[in-house]
Amino acid sequence: MFKKGSKLYSIFTGACPKCHEESMYVNKNPYILSEALTMHGKCSNCNTKYKIEPSFFYGAMYVSYAVGIAFAVAAFVISYFVFNAGLNYIFVSIVITLIVFMPVIMRTSRNIWINLFMSYDKSLTRKK
Ligand SMILES: [Zn+2]
Repeated sequence: MFKKGSKLYSIFTGACPKCHEESMYVNKNPYILSEALTMHGKCSNCNTKYKIEPSFFYGAMYVSYAVGIAFAVAAFVISYFVFNAGLNYIFVSIVITLIVFMPVIMRTSRNIWINLFMSYDKSLTRKK
């Protein structure tokens, strides 16, 4: 999908923002809701601490607003242009989209948030 080394790789896979070798999340599947936001304390490969400071990830809420709007716009475009839906159906489809993708939206915004503060460092990749 996206190559290791680009921020998009870490954002879409939830990989460690510094070495891209490990998932930040205990469970890779965001739809296991009880573990959707359970993260490792630090990367077992490069030792990066994910939670830079206490309540670091509260900032991700601002990002999730933008990510949520992106999903809502996508739902609008698909239902309006692909299915020619009326306003009521569009509204319902947006609400359903936001609910169904909530775990993905929350994780994606955390990934974007942490990637604003950390960058890929090639020297930290696992030596082969
Ligand atoms: Zn790492």
